[in-house]
Amino acid sequence: ASDREVEFSTIIPASCIVGSITWDITNKVLEAQQQEPDPGTGPPNKIFVPTSTRGPLIHWAHTAKFSIHPGLGRTISLIRRTFWWPSMYRDVKEYISACQVCARHKSSNQPPQGLLQPLPVPHRPWSHIALDFVTGLPLSKGFTVILTIVDRFSKACHLVPPKSLPSSTETANLLIKHLFRLHGLPNEILSDRGPQFIARVWTDFAKHLGAKVSLTSGFHPQTNGQVERMNQELEAMLRCICSSNPAGWSVQLPWVEYAHNSHTSSSTGQSTFEVSLGYQPPLFPSDSASSTSVPQFLRQARRIWSHTRAALQRTAERNRRIADRHRHPAPAYTQGQMVWLSSRDIKLRGYNRKFSPRFLGPFPMAEVLGPVSVQLDLPPSMKIHPVFHVSLLKPVVSSPLCPPVAPPPPVCLADGSLGYRMHRILDVRSRGRGRQFLVDWEGYGPEHREWIPGSWIEDISLIRDFEASRGSSSSASSSSAGPPGGIPWGWGGALSRCASICCEFGQPCVHRWAWHSSQLFGVPLIGASRI
Ligand SMILES: [Zn+2]
Repeated sequence: ASDREVEFSTIIPASCIVGSITWDITNKVLEAQQQEPDPGTGPPNKIFVPTSTRGPLIHWAHTAKFSIHPGLGRTISLIRRTFWWPSMYRDVKEYISACQVCARHKSSNQPPQGLLQPLPVPHRPWSHIALDFVTGLPLSKGFTVILTIVDRFSKACHLVPPKSLPSSTETANLLIKHLFRLHGLPNEILSDRGPQFIARVWTDFAKHLGAKVSLTSGFHPQTNGQVERMNQELEAMLRCICSSNPAGWSVQLPWVEYAHNSHTSSSTGQSTFEVSLGYQPPLFPSDSASSTSVPQFLRQARRIWSHTRAALQRTAERNRRIADRHRHPAPAYTQGQMVWLSSRDIKLRGYNRKFSPRFLGPFPMAEVLGPVSVQLDLPPSMKIHPVFHVSLLKPVVSSPLCPPVAPPPPVCLADGSLGYRMHRILDVRSRGRGRQFLVDWEGYGPEHREWIPGSWIEDISLIRDFEASRGSSSSASSSSAGPPGGIPWGWGGALSRCASICCEFGQPCVHRWAWHSSQLFGVPLIGASRI
């Protein structure tokens, strides 16, 4: 075989073409090496990445089509297959914590932030009360709801059945009838129905008494555990005695209240009757206590109170320790700082819950109200109370490695008028004689989505496209309530197509305009001409 001439030929058949892929980023890295050569201290066969191209390289590995925003470990192992530089781990970590897409769409698996702030322990019975409503009950002699009034000191309760979920005025009336009459004025009222509700109840309550109330914002995020537990106990008791006759629960309510108040409470170690009255109402004639003088009775009552307060403080401390085991202290926020807000408790319009972003924003911090509560500067379109517990926030991180996100397109003054660029229409509803459309604004997050009248949408073809995409069922009504020819509110100018590149090339595009009033983003209409 030695005399046979060896001919090297490819083993790949002629029909096959081998293509090797090169990435632009590799060339950029090699180019940058001319300024900053490989120090030669890295692992063999890995390309050294100079400082100037580290940001673009991480950006490529983290956001490329084949990669889709992996976490820290996966991004690093992807880069490590080919590249190397000394501070790789730190840089990638910094980049990912600053990645806005990740920040917006990934839920955190960190323990919640913000240590438990225990409620103040009251000094006497019926000074601090908590309200709640048990709803969804079967109709019983015209009643469907139970209002539970719980004394946070003794844990005593009053159960009141209103006909339906009461308004703040009705609640204030019920409080006068069932609380003030028996126990006088409370110092604090807690409720899960939100700070505005409590503020209105207080105001109405004071109005009935002919007094004025100055409200301080006592924001207790994890407030009403006691009332919730009370409600669970209440519902369990009602189930026990009403299972055969569900409509009879309202008759049983006084028995449930007595039973709760005469049983020993686990947080004070005494029955609520003993704590609030100083004695346990006797069930048998022989139970009645031997004669005591009034001063003796008062001394005994005070002893019980201080004993109760100590027990409550111990319980609160134990609860705080248990709760804080699964929490992290919140970072120190400052006014003006940008933060992300969890979308957990916020209903986003026009979004499938599964795909909706996990965080909204970034929003500026308007005020730090306490160790665990802050007020944010939200767009008016969100229409929610802007006070949040810190566990719903995370700070916005920025890094020179991560390119900043492009700011939303500026408010445009076209022909002397103000317009926002509309991304697409998501939904439609009838309002009055016309229709409103739910629109997504170009460059703005889902928290800015809004219902606007059809007449604000300048480009009618956008509505037509939306209707076409919803199928023929809705197209029948399109002609009846389409936007009128005239422009409402007298905004001058007419602009139907945007001037961006895709339109110039005749591509169907989503960059169209909607006219807009100043209240939407709180932008003053400077320079807009009003005819
Ligand atoms: Zn990312």
